[in-house]
Amino acid sequence: MLGCVSCSSGRTLEPNEIQSIHANKAFLNEETKCNGCGDRFPYVEGIIQGIISDSLFAEWNFVSNIVLSGSIKVSVGTVYHQKLEQEVPVINKIFLTCIDTHTDVAPVYDHGHAFRVISSATGHGAKIGDTQKIDWLLYGRTKNIKIPVWQKFIIQAKEELLQRQYNLSLLTSAISFESFVDTLIEKLFSQKGITQEASNIILESMSGIYHKVHKLLPELDKIALKENKEINKKWQKSVVEKRNTIAHGAIEEVSKEEAREAFETVIRAIYYLAQNTSLNLK
Ligand SMILES: [Zn+2]
Repeated sequence: MLGCVSCSSGRTLEPNEIQSIHANKAFLNEETKCNGCGDRFPYVEGIIQGIISDSLFAEWNFVSNIVLSGSIKVSVGTVYHQKLEQEVPVINKIFLTCIDTHTDVAPVYDHGHAFRVISSATGHGAKIGDTQKIDWLLYGRTKNIKIPVWQKFIIQAKEELLQRQYNLSLLTSAISFESFVDTLIEKLFSQKGITQEASNIILESMSGIYHKVHKLLPELDKIALKENKEINKKWQKSVVEKRNTIAHGAIEEVSKEEAREAFETVIRAIYYLAQNTSLNLK
């Protein structure tokens, strides 16, 4: 998903664009044009905008790998059962849109092969027994998605944002960056002939993320987050310092803005390291 920096337009990446990015990550710095407003921006910025977008449909799309939709006719006041054409182990969200007159409708998430729709008359819209046409759009996912652990944390941090669990989301964002850094260091160690066991021992014995980011990474691969002053400062202030105060019980409530800022900062920091490492990350 590619989001526009200036307007809310978005589009999916074309297969040839995905190939170009995989073949050469310098392609991420090439410019692309928004179909909506015509603005130009680098691919990497479009990808980041797509991930951090707060457009509701883009957000549910990001945390889902199954999207189904359809149109049904319900009799107001009765429970409607909708069978699904494929198994959806976890239903993330169902959007219902009444096409005719106003009716109160709500989905019941059964997870698996079906969901139900309950409906009720509102007094000024449809009456009990009336037939109502409703469009539905379902976002769901399989239980196990085969992606690296740090990416699972990114998706989890986003799910927690959507569920308004801002404290947890901030912690998960911080953990996803730490997990990404560990993955990067493990790959660099392996490239230098250090065994997986030795690499685990070294990583487990290291205290804190600062040492890994500011000492080990520059030593192993000449990549320094410090060189990007803006991201580095935000990462320290909005992610690490807040993560530590939450973990020690000092902050009671994290605001939506703080949680979103931590999420965006982590995405930007990950892309910065991914673009500047000598490794070819696929
Ligand atoms: Zn645009």
